[in-house]
Amino acid sequence: MSNNNTYVVGFPRIGEKRELKIVLEKFWAKKSSFEEVQAVASELKKRHWNYQKDAGIEFISSNDFSLYDNMLDTSVMLGAIPKRFKALKDEELYFSMARGNIESVAMEMTKWFNTNYHYIVPELSLEDNYSLNSSKIVNEYKEAKALGITTKINLIGPITYLGLSKRIDGGDTYELLGKVLCVYEKLLKEIADLDTELVVQIDEPIFVKDHEVKLLSLIKPTYDALTSVSDKLKIIVTTYFEHSVEATKVLVNTPVWALGLDFLYGEENMVSLDLIHKSNKKLIAGVVDGRNIWKNEIKKSAELLDEIAEIIPKEKIIISSSCSLLHTPFTLKYEEKMDKEIRNWLSYAVEKLDELTLLSKLFFQGVECLNKGEGTLLIQNIQANESRKTSTRIHDKAVQKRVEELSKLSREGSYEERIKVQKEVLAYNDLATTSIGSFPQTPEVRKARRDFKNSDITLENYETQMKEYIVDCINFQEECGLEVLVHGEPERNDMVEYFGEQLKGYGFSQNGWVQSYGSRCVKPPFIFGDISRPEAMTVEWMKFSQSKTKKIMKGMLTGPVTILNWSFVRDDKARDEVSKQIAVALSDEIDDLQKAGIKIIQVDEAAFKEGYPLRQEKIKIYEKWAVRDFKIAVSSANIDTQIHTHMCYSEFNDIIETIENMDADVISIETARSGNELLKIFKEVGYKQEVGPGVYDIHSPRIPSVEEMVKQIKLLLEVLPQKQLWINPDCGLKTRKWEEVKPSLTNMVEAVNIVRKELAL
Ligand code: GLN
Ligand code: ZN
Repeated sequence: MSNNNTYVVGFPRIGEKRELKIVLEKFWAKKSSFEEVQAVASELKKRHWNYQKDAGIEFISSNDFSLYDNMLDTSVMLGAIPKRFKALKDEELYFSMARGNIESVAMEMTKWFNTNYHYIVPELSLEDNYSLNSSKIVNEYKEAKALGITTKINLIGPITYLGLSKRIDGGDTYELLGKVLCVYEKLLKEIADLDTELVVQIDEPIFVKDHEVKLLSLIKPTYDALTSVSDKLKIIVTTYFEHSVEATKVLVNTPVWALGLDFLYGEENMVSLDLIHKSNKKLIAGVVDGRNIWKNEIKKSAELLDEIAEIIPKEKIIISSSCSLLHTPFTLKYEEKMDKEIRNWLSYAVEKLDELTLLSKLFFQGVECLNKGEGTLLIQNIQANESRKTSTRIHDKAVQKRVEELSKLSREGSYEERIKVQKEVLAYNDLATTSIGSFPQTPEVRKARRDFKNSDITLENYETQMKEYIVDCINFQEECGLEVLVHGEPERNDMVEYFGEQLKGYGFSQNGWVQSYGSRCVKPPFIFGDISRPEAMTVEWMKFSQSKTKKIMKGMLTGPVTILNWSFVRDDKARDEVSKQIAVALSDEIDDLQKAGIKIIQVDEAAFKEGYPLRQEKIKIYEKWAVRDFKIAVSSANIDTQIHTHMCYSEFNDIIETIENMDADVISIETARSGNELLKIFKEVGYKQEVGPGVYDIHSPRIPSVEEMVKQIKLLLEVLPQKQLWINPDCGLKTRKWEEVKPSLTNMVEAVNIVRKELAL
């Protein structure tokens, strides 16, 4: 180990060519053996350790690897196995917990804090008996050691583990802390026997959330216990994504060796420096962004470190990524096709390693000690960042001016005025039927898009194929009797990428894959510059679609907040300013659509909740600009243009007022699985606008019967009056097959007709 005080919280594991994904999916399809999976896993671990070692990183992790998910690994380590899987063993057990099997449903999966990574939610109960299974952790340490690399061992902390678990018998997960802690203590004892000295990184990101006094009271006893296991252990408690000031106050009074803090997403951590200094602990300072793709501004980071060093002596500081690099793509090496200027602004996981070591040299030894190569690197870094500050591809004066001077911030007319006009003009019935936008993306549609992208077919050929698909969609919707139609979205691969590709200021990677869950990866587009819309994006498609039917064709856009939340966002401008620019571009699109004769326009905010800050005090601020920008996006809509929005959620209890403030004329939501329970909040707050609660679950291939949807609609009518209700599926239908969609929608319309007859509508 070189002694340069550089630290990486964790490393991506899917592989630079997604090798892990490929072998896992082969294994699941029974086309390869588990031995092959293990061989690939070993190879990847080795390669990832070597990348870090070669870059000169001092603190490299083991147990940051996983075949599926680290929370799931922790459940296995504890023997926290749900009853329905107890008869299984080894990999069959592991993957069944993650993915379900013929007999049992998978464990639930949910988002890891405010990232797009998803973990497997532990299912615990008071009667559980936990027992240690340390093999993965021990083996990974030994594996690295055999390669000449002494690792720190990463663990998810017991408080975070329990905080993210659910109790299937009701009650508080923290009641189980005693039992769980016993296993952690045993584990640490085993770990201590592995070597003469060991560093253990215990991740407690839950400490960055708003604290109940209860949680805070658990910290000291937990870490007093864990640190007393063995003198050989150096225990680090790591938090990220926000500040953890309250927890730090407690942790400085425990014998932990170091604290890992995020100084990028938790600037407030600066106030903890004094306490950390007094407690004589090491500080792992997260200053290189672990969840974005921009080149670090080395000079700026060095300044930040200098500021920290005014309070904490240099020898106590270790320079780190702000969180695990799991949340960034792997390496720029395979971005061969990317524009050179843009590529020069980026840094993926592998490139961030060099930033850490360069920063360390600069900070600890000073600029005069850089060798020639390092000096060149520093100059290149400064130049790249300079060019980002000045490039006209990033900074568009016209866009900035327009956004600054924007005066129309919302649409004309109150909801009451608007809906009156709309009901007259659009003349739809109570319980109007519609769908959320996409129809099945068949292999033919995907192939046509791919062929066009690769220039294998002409634009004309491509458009003909898309138009045929749209006409088929329309014909089907007319046949089955839907009232407000959609065009089916065949031309869109993804609801964000499609718009990103047409907006100026957006970039795309060839290989910027980031793990989302298990073997699934996403390739988020990135916003590098001021956003504008060079030309109309959807108008031609919508005009064509409307021309093929006398019914109302719904225009379909993705909202500003969702576009933002599913992209990597530039770090040289505040998020809310970026979002506002997107909103302005969308308002132009809406204006063009209505001028082209489109009377209803849906602005999807599928990812509205994703952007919620982890701290209560910041939520109000987010809500304020998120609502502002939705309203700006739709501000161009005339009184008689009806604005719909769609959100992929069912739980609105905490945010109902915010939703109301968005002032969409109609919102469709995901309620099929919750009956009418979660709808009640709309009634409670006296929600005025119209609502389309999904009447069937599109996430399953099951075809819902007429009777069950009649029942579902009646349940909805118990909560909201017929005048306020639309009837639609839960979400878009693109992942379903036509064989499922056709009977499902036909049954849905039939169900509405039955209910209408009964109500004598
Ligand atoms: N209009 C989009 C679709 O139907 C909405 C998808 C979503 O909300 N995730 O596919
Ligand atoms: Zn949805």
